[in-house]
Amino acid sequence: MLKNGGIEVSLPNCRACKSSSIEVCSARYKFPLYIWPLPEMKRTILKDIHVYICSDCGYMQLQNMDDETISEIYRDEAFNVENRQEKYERLTLLTADDKQKFEKTKALEVGGGRNTFLGLLPDSSEKWVADFNVDKIVQAEVDGVFIGDFVEAEITESDFDYIFMFHVLEHFNDPSMALKKAKRLLNSEGKIIIEVPNFGLESELRPHYTIFHMHISLFTQTSLMSLMMRHGFRCVDVIKKDEVLLVEFRLGASALPPNHIMHSLEHLSIVDSNIRKCLSKLKTLINKIENGAIAIFGGGGASTLFLYNYPFLIDRVSFAVDSDNGKIGRSLCNGRIPIVSPDRITNLNIKHIIVLEDSHIGYVGNDEVNYINIGAIYES
Ligand SMILES: [Zn+2]
Repeated sequence: MLKNGGIEVSLPNCRACKSSSIEVCSARYKFPLYIWPLPEMKRTILKDIHVYICSDCGYMQLQNMDDETISEIYRDEAFNVENRQEKYERLTLLTADDKQKFEKTKALEVGGGRNTFLGLLPDSSEKWVADFNVDKIVQAEVDGVFIGDFVEAEITESDFDYIFMFHVLEHFNDPSMALKKAKRLLNSEGKIIIEVPNFGLESELRPHYTIFHMHISLFTQTSLMSLMMRHGFRCVDVIKKDEVLLVEFRLGASALPPNHIMHSLEHLSIVDSNIRKCLSKLKTLINKIENGAIAIFGGGGASTLFLYNYPFLIDRVSFAVDSDNGKIGRSLCNGRIPIVSPDRITNLNIKHIIVLEDSHIGYVGNDEVNYINIGAIYES
């Protein structure tokens, strides 16, 4: 465990239990605030990341984010919008045991201003969205909107049956305040349905895509349950548990959760040991390469974070290959890695392609290049 000595402490209290006994347990240096591809001449700031674990409760969290950092992180989320299919799958899972579950209910979605889940709920339900920005399409789908930071916004409605937070809780600078507010807005039988990335699984399968500025809190099933219990919620059902955790909670926890610090330390050490293992194997593989350019498949956030976890690659990887026209012509790593279309692989003399997942080999569809399969390295 790194001690705080030598590192500027920028988190005075644990976000879950308010204890000041928090320690830096892992760090990432010079990581980009904005992880999506940028147009030529646009740059993002690089800042260190410190991962803290609370000694009193075990909560895993990053340093405090100031307003400037937050606005840089979210300057354009257009590359990260969910598709309709993902929302349907979520609705199917949520209503598997009760097709009428959302009939005649009053629901609030926190986030969702760009692409709301509420549009899939029955006409008999009353729908409200709270988000920083709510686009016109969403406004037409719901009964009303609250614009602004959920924690600070004046929410003039209450007595909700459901509050949804899909990929929102991990982004709050103050998740405890958000949960306290949600608790006040629910009626006595009200439920809160939360989806967050599953750090428990990602630490093993995608260790390069787990620690970044956007995810202020890191949740495993244990740590999510602990935070919710601390705020008086008890688990009704774990609806999905794979790369995400989708969990339904209701009011009524009576006890304080146990400290899960050993669990948190274990998962953080899985991330760090996976990164070290992959670094060693990648150095051996890349140093053997004598001919042809090296590319990475994918011009999005996963590639960006992968490259910053293995920074020696930023000098060795010449291109990112992506078939998304919105990304081609932009670049990763502050202009250093241009994004090109797969049909240029031969012309650009690309002989080696790093793929982050097995399935990407099929997307590239070129059997003349040498694939460096990162998923296989993590699993080895
Ligand atoms: Zn704590």
